[in-house]
Amino acid sequence: MDGFMVKLLKLEKFSFGVGDRFAHQAKAQLKAFILAAQQGVEVTPVWNKSNREHVIVGSEPSGARAAVEAAVKALGWTKAYHVDADHIGLATVDRFIPHSDFYTIDVADWIGKPADTRAVDAFIDSHPELVGRISIPQIEWPFQTTAGDVRGVVAKYLLAVQEAGKIYRHIAQAKGAQNFITEVSMDETDSPQTPPELLIILAAIADEKIPIQTIAPKFTGRFNKGVDYVGDVAQFEKEFSEDLAVIDFAVKQYGLPNTLKLSVHSGSDKFSIYGPMRRALARFGSGLHIKTAGTTWLEEVIGLAEAGGDGLALAREIYAGALAHAQELCAPYATVIDIDFKKLPSAATVNGWSAKQFTSALRHDQSNPEYNPHLRQLIHVGYKIAAKMGNRYLDALEKYEDTVARNVTANLYERHMKLLLAGTSRVASRSAAVPAQETAASL
Ligand SMILES: [Zn+2]
Repeated sequence: MDGFMVKLLKLEKFSFGVGDRFAHQAKAQLKAFILAAQQGVEVTPVWNKSNREHVIVGSEPSGARAAVEAAVKALGWTKAYHVDADHIGLATVDRFIPHSDFYTIDVADWIGKPADTRAVDAFIDSHPELVGRISIPQIEWPFQTTAGDVRGVVAKYLLAVQEAGKIYRHIAQAKGAQNFITEVSMDETDSPQTPPELLIILAAIADEKIPIQTIAPKFTGRFNKGVDYVGDVAQFEKEFSEDLAVIDFAVKQYGLPNTLKLSVHSGSDKFSIYGPMRRALARFGSGLHIKTAGTTWLEEVIGLAEAGGDGLALAREIYAGALAHAQELCAPYATVIDIDFKKLPSAATVNGWSAKQFTSALRHDQSNPEYNPHLRQLIHVGYKIAAKMGNRYLDALEKYEDTVARNVTANLYERHMKLLLAGTSRVASRSAAVPAQETAASL
């Protein structure tokens, strides 16, 4: 069954979303992908920036694209790369159309809003396979659903999927359906989506004829910005594996693009679940899209601090500014941070810190007793302070480019790609058309 006649711009098996708030690190980021490629691991860079980020920083989608193009040219990158209009909706997408070839359609705000009851009835009538016992290969216990369960899930998500369809068609009309990659995201919401819910959502997405290639559900547990996963790792591994099984099943059952894979948002720094994720991906031969969240911006501050002198002074100033404006900075991120304000050092204390003390507190090294996740989360949301510094901040990035770039590259390559993708190039792919790459090298 092939529900999608349109030829697609296909997303590669492993892709890594990187953010570059101030459009100065694309080269340093691309270097991490080059290092991975040299080890035989093909990871496609996707530069993502949301409208929210553009508004806070005061940047434009054209500038994000230009920074990427410059890096690709400077480093002679000849493989695929993409620019993602992250978390867009109908109201915000238009400014991205000329500059992005990847669209993350965010419909989280539509979840739970009532859909037309006739549409819900029609969906249930046309999907008898979703009611009763659903046996999915590689899931130990079949899902057991009643018509009432399915109705509840459809009622909760159908309007969101219909909205995703509207946004998809709007982009397709403006850009041509074959010219972009579509993601649907539902992560920025209160309750996680279970694997059976994901199956029903994918059926609805197929009915809506959205050629989705990545889907971002909300997983169980906390995905706080810039810090490790908080939750039951075993439970996460089970849910993640079941999601992979559901995706494989839905691709066959509903004719969704065979490039469809999970997208893990706020996926940077979740070190405790990288092992479980890597094992599950290998078991299923699945690909993955992972979006990092602000981790590059934090490396900029680390690099400035490490440089010492006025770089360190600027880093201290950013901390003091973030501390003074903590309430307003944290408000938009309330659901994705957990800061214990009692564990934040005073600005005076930090002003007395050496470069080593500052970087030890900020760098995500859990084996370092000086590491302070509360300070790290506060600086994560504090990029507005640097944005307000304007050229003073950008000039410092340029002055200390070497130190900053070294940290940006090492963070992506050593702490993320190595832990997540080690050995994946030797794992068989889902599609027989894409043979597994046999290589002796591993990260
Ligand atoms: Zn997200």
